[in-house]
Amino acid sequence: MNTASFRKRLVMGNWKMNGGLEANAKLMADLHAGAGILADHCTLAVCAPFPYLAQVQSQLQNSVISWGAQDISAHKAGAYTGEVSAAMLVDFGCSWALVGHSERRAMHGETDDVVAAKARAALDAGITPVVCVGETLAEQEAGQTLAVIQRQLGPVLALGKEAVSKIVVAYEPVWAIGTGRTATPAQAQEVHAAIRASLTSLDAHHVRVLYGGSVKADNAASLFAMPDIDGALVGGASLVADEFLRIAAA
Ligand code: PEP
Repeated sequence: MNTASFRKRLVMGNWKMNGGLEANAKLMADLHAGAGILADHCTLAVCAPFPYLAQVQSQLQNSVISWGAQDISAHKAGAYTGEVSAAMLVDFGCSWALVGHSERRAMHGETDDVVAAKARAALDAGITPVVCVGETLAEQEAGQTLAVIQRQLGPVLALGKEAVSKIVVAYEPVWAIGTGRTATPAQAQEVHAAIRASLTSLDAHHVRVLYGGSVKADNAASLFAMPDIDGALVGGASLVADEFLRIAAA
């Protein structure tokens, strides 16, 4: 049996800090119109900025597209100015939360332990954390890719089998994010296979491992042909409905 056959593909957009009421409405209308025929093969989702989650919920609630946030607080409630809790995301129908995106790790000092705590908070609220990992260019050039990924994943895997069985992992080499430079399918597959081995050691064969980093319609098919790539986390290209839908169709 092809072990990938029970992992439904997942294509998730990360809008980052882009959009506005008008642009979002048009983007979602176009996505809604094109997504229906893809839903049997692929789960589609978008991660929107916090202020627009209400808009996304109201516009996508009767569509095949699910939605989530780009971050989540590790804390339940209280004196955490500027943070957004898991319970608040549940109020707006979020199914997903990105945790440990490289931009948060680099610009907001999120450590591997903080990322794991955020994953735990999401799981406790019934939200699926999409745990982002990836090495910098310097780390890649120093041959440290697999060691970095294992280090980043360590505290998440330490949450235990039950927790790990409910996560999604996104491998996003930092040097490929927003740069137009994509990992080759073989490069990505090597890392995905290592991640898969760690997951399998915790009986989590079914956990989806997404690739992210300048995924476009014209490189998606070759990445998705790899046995351990179960979909994509898409930044820039997720802001263009036709491009995003063509990635999902791949
Ligand atoms: C991302 O931000 O998660 C990402 C993959 O961005 P891009 O597709 O623009 O490289």
